[in-house]
Order: sequence, then structure tokens, then C-alpha cells
Amino acid sequence: MSTTSLLPVYRRSGIVIERGEGVYLYAPDGTRYLDFASGIAVNALGHSHPHLVAALRDQAAKLWHVSNMYSTPGLLRFADRLVAATFADKIFFCNSGSEAVECGIKMIRKYFSSPSRGEGKNRIITFEGGFHGRTLACISAGGNEIAREGYAPLLDGFDRVPFGDLAAVERAITPHTAGILVEAIQGEGGVRVASVEFLQGLRKLADKHGLLLMLDEVQAGMGRTGKLFAFEHAGIVPDIVTVAKGIGNGFPLAACLAGDKVAAAMSPGTHGSTYGANPLAMAVGNAVLDIMLAEGFFAQVEKMGAALESGLRELQRRFPAVIAEVRGRGLLLGIRMAIPHHAFVEALREEKLLTSPAQDNVIRIIPPLVVNSGHISDALAILARICEKVP
Ligand code: PLP
Repeated sequence: MSTTSLLPVYRRSGIVIERGEGVYLYAPDGTRYLDFASGIAVNALGHSHPHLVAALRDQAAKLWHVSNMYSTPGLLRFADRLVAATFADKIFFCNSGSEAVECGIKMIRKYFSSPSRGEGKNRIITFEGGFHGRTLACISAGGNEIAREGYAPLLDGFDRVPFGDLAAVERAITPHTAGILVEAIQGEGGVRVASVEFLQGLRKLADKHGLLLMLDEVQAGMGRTGKLFAFEHAGIVPDIVTVAKGIGNGFPLAACLAGDKVAAAMSPGTHGSTYGANPLAMAVGNAVLDIMLAEGFFAQVEKMGAALESGLRELQRRFPAVIAEVRGRGLLLGIRMAIPHHAFVEALREEKLLTSPAQDNVIRIIPPLVVNSGHISDALAILARICEKVP
């Protein structure tokens, strides 16, 4: 087996993973890894969760695909449940975070394409350090230079400003501005948390200037911060929200959520996806909600997040020459390293702890949301051991 047949767009480690169970991953030779990366914030309920496996098996025996020419019971139930649990009135299902973001961007543009809503408004304010996916629209919106390099001409219509700078946002608003696209926590950008004041300020600016506010919750959403969505900590209501990753726990599933006001701009033929809302994905999504929306789930995430964060802060106090800063919320945590982070991630991997590097020399500590205090102690012990070894 080798990776030479793969397009070399990933810094792939030499590890081969064969199976997973809970918060553990196993190599073919039985080597066990403690997974504090969750497939980059995807496996919210861990690996091979029995309830999800059963839901997918049952559905696989019934129906795989019918297209969006028809509805399925799982689709109708899942959409209704998401509407009941969130601000949204309408849901569009797709297969990846990038697709969900594309849908949101298109909805913003479509909404303002009607003269009655403000003709000529088609620009969206986005943020430095932001990440929204890999399609041309998503890299054009995002603030990651490496992701953009060499792909010109990019899509016009995005005005990037510094993250957290409300005054810069206000300065960037012109008669052509249609919306604001922001992450409540920049995950890929290095676990940079938007303050409550910043998010509330964006909502106020959007209201004042008649703009649509779109929150990209692909990474920070689906319970990771101890609430269904990370923006809820700021008590705001967005116009559009994108979700992916945790909502499918590893099965390709994403969604774009919108209120009736925005959704009214969309009509048959204006958007679509062959695989979006496929019955297998709907079965998994419903099973994920069964667990996440159960009493006490988010409170447990908050509790484990607090334990992990306090352990990381203790490590930072003990090893200030290694860990420069701890940041994040719930179980979306990051340590900004005082030494190069890639080598540290590798050293952790050698000790069988998997983490995920991000921008800004940050290592994301993003375990499955079903992690317990024993797993957290084990991870902190490995981190401490590696910190001690740094000269
Ligand atoms: N938006 C955010 C905030 C993300 O973190 C990501 C992926 O990391 C995406 C969008 C893109 O999602 P996908 O890779 O599923 O297209």
C-alpha cells in the first residue's frame, strides 16, 4: 500500500487507520490512537456509534437514492426536526460544508437580485483568517492565502476585513454590500473566538444597513461549543446558517438553514444537488439528532470542555516556553504553540494522541463530544510528557 496514487494536496501522515470505536482509532496491526482530532471536528459522536451504525444499516437495506424529485420519510422528519430545534424555517441539504456555504452565498445574492430588496447589492463582507471551504466561491470568500494562491481569477464580490474589528466592518459597508459571512469561532484560522460584542455588533450593523448575516457553523456548530450553534453564546439570530461535519458524524451531510424572509427568494430550479438529502444521509442525520438533542448532551459537552480547557491552561502555566496560549470554547479548543506546531503534532502522534494543526501555529484539540474525563486525563498526560521533552 502506498499514497503515491493520490493527488498530493495533503500532508498525510504515514499512519493507516482501519477501524474506530468511540474515541479510539486502530491501525491494522492493532495500534490504538486516542482521537482528539475527530476527523477535523467531524466525528462528534465518536467512531462506530451503535445507534448511528444501526440507523445506516437499516436504511441501506431499504433505499439509497431517489433524487429530489421525491420526498422520503427521513428527509421530511429531519428537516422538521431541524426547523423545530433552530431559528430556521427552511433547510437545504447537501453533501459538504463548501456546498452549504455556496448555497448561502447564492441565497444572499438571489435575495438582493430583486429590485424591491435593493438592486445592485451583491457584495459580501468576509474576514481575514476565515475558512469556508475549497470551491472557487469559498476560497474567494475565505482569508487563507495558500488556499487561494494560483487559482486566479477568483470570484469577485467579497470584501475582506480583519476578524473582530467592527469599525473595519462598518467602513467596508457600501451601497453594494449585501451580507456578512462570519464564523463564530475560526476553526481552520486557529481557533480564534469572536467575542460576544463582535457578533452582536455584526447583527446590529446588518440590521442598520439592511444586510443579511450568515454564520458558517460548519466547524463550530452541532454541539461542539456546548450549544447547538456557537453563535448562540452571543444570543443573536442569523439570517443564514451553514452546518456540516458533526451533523453527519462522518457521513457526507451538510445543510444550509434560512429564515422564511431569505428562503422566499428561492424557487424551483434556482439551486439543487443530486445527492443532497439522500436517504442514507437523512437516516444518519436523524440518528445524530436523537443523541445530540437528548436531555443533558450539551451540558456534558460544556462540562468536558471546561475540564479539558482547565487542564490545557495548567499545561500552559507549567510549560510557557512550549504553549503560548490556550483558546477556544467547549470542545473546540486550540493551543497556540511557542515552538513550531507541526513537529509537536507529530510527537503527539508518536505517543498515540491525534490532534489537528491549524493556522497561526495552533494545534486544535477537538475530541469527539462523547469524550469522558478518563480520556481527557490520558490526553493531558501525553501532552505533558511531550512538553517535558521539548529542550
Ligand atoms: N466552513 C468551515 C468553517 C470549515 O471549517 C470548513 C472545513 O473545514 C468548511 C466550511 C468546508 O467544509 P467541507 O470541507 O466539508 O467542504
